[in-house]
Amino acid sequence: MQYGLSKHSTKNSGSMKYSDVNFRYFKKNRYSIAALLPLVPDAKVVNEPRNGIMLYSFSTPQKEYVYKEVDEHRKKLNAVWVAGGPHPSARPQEVLEHFDYVVVGEGESVLPKLIEVLRRGEIPEIEGVGRLEDGEMVLKPQRKYVSIDEYPPFSPQMMAPIEITRGCPHSCGFCQTPRLFGRKMRHRSIGKIVKYAKYRDVRFISPNALAYGSDGIEPNLEKVEKLLSSLKGKRVFFGTFPCEVRPEFVSDRALEIIGRYCYNTHICIGAQSGSDRVLKILRRGHETAEVYKAVELCVEHGFKPVVDMIFGLPFENEEDERRSLDMVRWITNKGGLIRAHKFMPLPGTPLEHYPPTQISDRVKRVLGKLALKGKVRGRWEL
Ligand code: SF4
Repeated sequence: MQYGLSKHSTKNSGSMKYSDVNFRYFKKNRYSIAALLPLVPDAKVVNEPRNGIMLYSFSTPQKEYVYKEVDEHRKKLNAVWVAGGPHPSARPQEVLEHFDYVVVGEGESVLPKLIEVLRRGEIPEIEGVGRLEDGEMVLKPQRKYVSIDEYPPFSPQMMAPIEITRGCPHSCGFCQTPRLFGRKMRHRSIGKIVKYAKYRDVRFISPNALAYGSDGIEPNLEKVEKLLSSLKGKRVFFGTFPCEVRPEFVSDRALEIIGRYCYNTHICIGAQSGSDRVLKILRRGHETAEVYKAVELCVEHGFKPVVDMIFGLPFENEEDERRSLDMVRWITNKGGLIRAHKFMPLPGTPLEHYPPTQISDRVKRVLGKLALKGKVRGRWEL
C-alpha cells in the first residue's frame, strides 16, 4: 500500500521511498541508540536531521527540544520522522502532532520491519507502530515483550553498558519502567553477557542489579555469583550507575560477592524518601529501615553508599521533608554520597498528574551546604 500522511503531508507524502536511515543522537539517548543500531546495521548516527528515515528516541525532558527540531526541519527535508522511547510510548497521540510514526513499547521487534516497509514507500501496518489516519491515531499494541537474550546489547559502532535485566515487578509511582517493560523480569543469559563483556570495564543496565536471575522480589544470589564469577579477569562494576540496587536486596552475602569479583568501591542504592509515609504512598515496597540497614552494611563492607533521593515529591509535608533531611545527614555522616533529584511527573505513571511540590528553603540550604563539601550531587533546584 502506498501512503499519504494525513497530518503532515508535505514533501514526504505519497509513494516516497527512503534508503538512508539516521538515528538522531543526543547524549541522553546513547544507550537506546547503541541497542537499536545492530538492528539496522547500515544506519548512520547523526547530530542533526537529514534526508531519509529519521529515528528519534527520547524521554520527557527532551521532548520540547525534539518537537522544535522536527517542526523546523520537516518542511525543509525529504524525510520521514519516526519517534520511539519512553516519552513517545507513553504519549503517542501527542508525538504524532510532530512525527509521522510512533513506536510504542520495545523497539527491537518493530524497528527492522518498520524500516523495511518505509524503504518500500508503504504504510506500516505493524503492531506497536502508531500513525494518524484522518486525524485519528491508528495503533495496534504489541502483544508480547521481547526476549532480550535474542538481541545484542550494543553495536561495535556504539558501546554501552550491557543490559542484563529488563522489566520490574515493583510499582513505584514515579517510575516508567514497569509500565514500559512490564512487571516480569527478563534476564540476559550468562553466556550472552560473557560474549559481550569484551571491553576493559564491564558495566551493566538493570532496574536492580542484585535481582539478576530472580523474580525481582526474592534475590537469587547464586545466579548473581555465577554471573560475576564467569566474568573473572574483567574489571566488573556491579551495583553502580546505571544499575543501582534496591535497599532490601543489600545483604552481607550480596556485598561479599560484589567485593570478591568486582572493582567498584561504591554501591548505588535507591532510597527516594526518608519518610515511611511517603514511601508507602509511592508504593516503593520497602521502608526507611531497609535503607539505613543497607547503608550500614555498605560501610561495614568498605563500600561508599551512593543514595538516590527525590525532593519535591507530591504529598510531602514538613515532617516528611524533615525525615528526608535526617536521612541525608545520617548517610553523609557515614561517608555516603547523596544523588539528589527533583521530582518530575512522568507520563504513563500513577503520579503523572501530580505537580512537584515547592522545594523549601530549608532543603535547599541543607543540600547546598553538603554539595559544597562534595557530599551531595544532583539538580534539585531546576
Ligand atoms: S524505581 Fe526501580 S524498583 Fe521502582 S518500579 Fe522503577 S525500576 Fe522498579
